Amino acid sequence: MGFSCGIVGLPNVGKSTIFNALTSAKAASENFPFCTIEPNTGKVPVPDARLLKLSELAGSAKLIPTQMTFVDIAGLIKGAAKGEGLGNQFLGHIRSVDAIMQVVRCFDDPNIVHVDGTVDPLRDISTIETELILSDLEALEKQVIRVEKNARGGDKDAKSKAEKLKELIEHLNQGFLAKTFPGINEPDLISEVGNLLTNKPVMYVANVPESEATTKPNLSGSTHLDRLAVYATERNAEVVVISGKVESEISELPLEERADYLEALGLESSGLDRLTVAGYHLLNLITFFTIGPKEAHAWTTTKNSTAPQAAGKIHSDFEKGFIRAEVISYEDYIFAGSELKVKENGKLRVEGKEYLVQDGDIVHFRFNN
Ligand code: GDP
Repeated sequence: MGFSCGIVGLPNVGKSTIFNALTSAKAASENFPFCTIEPNTGKVPVPDARLLKLSELAGSAKLIPTQMTFVDIAGLIKGAAKGEGLGNQFLGHIRSVDAIMQVVRCFDDPNIVHVDGTVDPLRDISTIETELILSDLEALEKQVIRVEKNARGGDKDAKSKAEKLKELIEHLNQGFLAKTFPGINEPDLISEVGNLLTNKPVMYVANVPESEATTKPNLSGSTHLDRLAVYATERNAEVVVISGKVESEISELPLEERADYLEALGLESSGLDRLTVAGYHLLNLITFFTIGPKEAHAWTTTKNSTAPQAAGKIHSDFEKGFIRAEVISYEDYIFAGSELKVKENGKLRVEGKEYLVQDGDIVHFRFNN
């Protein structure tokens, strides 16, 4: 599935509206033929102006953007961890995604009922967090039983592991998330706890009224959005401001009319583009390019990937038989205007298998078959 963001939130906050706009807006574009939509799962190209610039310079016949997977995880309600609604099934879906985008309702609309009667972003976040914590607790309690059994069977490390797990359980019982537990990402503990829901990266999608689509949150303000922004800032989380209604309208427009419509609304880019880029960063991903006359291709890898690891994103043979990478930084390519000129400028670098690929690198991999 590649890297994926799960869209979660309470019912009627605008998840499906945003997911549908996100996936159908791009499916309409002929440039992105691989943008298939399975039920509730959509692959969305990651907007990157660098790809177009590089393709123009190289005269590439085809453009292939990199992509990210979104999963619309409906059905999370209070009591989900106890099996309410389709509870556990949905929590299982969240377990399979790499990061969580929580849609938070910041619009008042008497015609759209809120499950708890009123609009209150912080209460909604707390409701969802509680369900995720409860689900993690259930998983951890099973794990403790297993580890304690191993301890009784003579596994020397198991006793201290069980102690650590119990401390983590206590941490969650106090209402904290797993990601704030000291040492949660150390290999010993991670191998025991697997991928806990509350250890996943989270960002918030503020679904605001149409009139606030261009609003920047005011940290001393009093709107729903402002309160959400304060909360997120305290937790070092990002908030993307979006109007589900506006995005849904934009996604129905022909491609050529969208830019004008955005401009008329005072928006520089669609909220969906901002959302995709934010998701990409949340997942700690970077983009590198392979550029030639046939195609300009953007590829995704995680930050701190070595050259062979990045090569493996293209083909496993590239990783296995890796010899070297010929690398041009994006700025050097744009400055020179062509690969030939880059070489003349002495800006084509030959890098070995320790090289950490940088965001924007243009790479030729040399490998043995
Ligand atoms: P979900 O249950 O979270 O997936 O919510 P939906 O996307 O199905 O939206 C629930 C209802 O809210 C639908 O009737 C939408 O048309 C409406 N809705 C979604 N986004 C907005 C918005 O930004 N403003 C307003 N007023 N209504 C919205």
